[in-house]
Amino acid sequence: MKNETMDWTQLNWKAELTNNVVNIDQLKEYADFSAEEEKELREVTKVHPINIPRYYLNLIEKNDPNDPIRRMCFPNADELVVAGDMGETTQDPYGDDKHDKGNGVLHKYDYTALVVATEYCAMYCRHCFRRRVVGRPNDQTLRKFAGATKYISNHPEITNVIISGGDPMMLPTSVLRQMLMPLAEIEHLDFVRIGTRTPATYPIRLFDDELIDLLQEFNEKKALYIPTHFNHTNEVTPTAAEGVKRLRNIGITVNNQAVLLRGVNDTAKDIKSLMSSLLRIGVNPYYLYQCMPVSRVRHHFQVPLKQGIELVDKAKQDLDGYGKRFKFIIGHDIGKLEICGMIDNKIVLKQLHARSGYSETASRLIVQEIDDNAGWVTL
Ligand code: SF4
Repeated sequence: MKNETMDWTQLNWKAELTNNVVNIDQLKEYADFSAEEEKELREVTKVHPINIPRYYLNLIEKNDPNDPIRRMCFPNADELVVAGDMGETTQDPYGDDKHDKGNGVLHKYDYTALVVATEYCAMYCRHCFRRRVVGRPNDQTLRKFAGATKYISNHPEITNVIISGGDPMMLPTSVLRQMLMPLAEIEHLDFVRIGTRTPATYPIRLFDDELIDLLQEFNEKKALYIPTHFNHTNEVTPTAAEGVKRLRNIGITVNNQAVLLRGVNDTAKDIKSLMSSLLRIGVNPYYLYQCMPVSRVRHHFQVPLKQGIELVDKAKQDLDGYGKRFKFIIGHDIGKLEICGMIDNKIVLKQLHARSGYSETASRLIVQEIDDNAGWVTL
């Protein structure tokens, strides 16, 4: 674990956000750009803004030009490439828009409703697959959420809700309270998830006692899980560990959903050390996503599937039982697919979830021939 020179736990989470790096002029204090690079990066930020907390900047090894943390937060001229060597791209690879029921509700699988509660995040990750909405303003949060709650109440087939975004933990605690508490009263919900990358990018948020009290109060009424998103062992700092401990101390289970990213975690060693360091702080390795064919992301972040399978298999050989519990996943338009492995030139997939109305396709095996450099499957 990287030693930290500053005690981040004492800061006011809202006030500290005002110190985020949000433009190229501020970024120049942390990196050298040529005039040409600067021009390109200014173009990039017109499409996907910059937002980097000081905490996250502090994790960068300044002398390493290939630092994985830098790659996840600094804009890159490669983002000007809409579709490159890895193939065609889309802004909506998971097909979210087709399942939009209004008021931020995405209802793709019968049993799960995902609610986009905010478009703001503590940090704007360069690999984000929801980058088409992240960073856009939204001032109707609570009104929309009331509509979302009504939709969920009227659909008894929904057993669980994911509050997502953006990052819901960036909402004021009072707003989060008004969203969460009505969900506790919905009898047919077994559990609720709040998806957040704050443990990795902004654990400062988890030191707000009012937030922890709210999560504890809710968890006593309805089981609460936190899916989070650590991609590299260097994100697992003492502050992150302490933040996660505050969640675990109130009985919340934290599961990790990483993304396989070129230049960030694309070796067996990277994956092994990520999963091991997560277990050390009590976070369950849950998913490793194949990077989706997202516009301005795929070209420079996606790892070919065959290479991904090899490195995941190699990492799993050295991991203990809990470390190797994570599934290598394709978040496909047709549903979630587990990547089981290769037989000769064929990829073997198992469908884990199917869209509403297609339940007969869930749990099926799919075997498909793929090229050495293929980064996605067409189904
Ligand atoms: S925190 Fe999540 S939603 Fe926000 S930019 Fe990063 S990956 Fe996207």
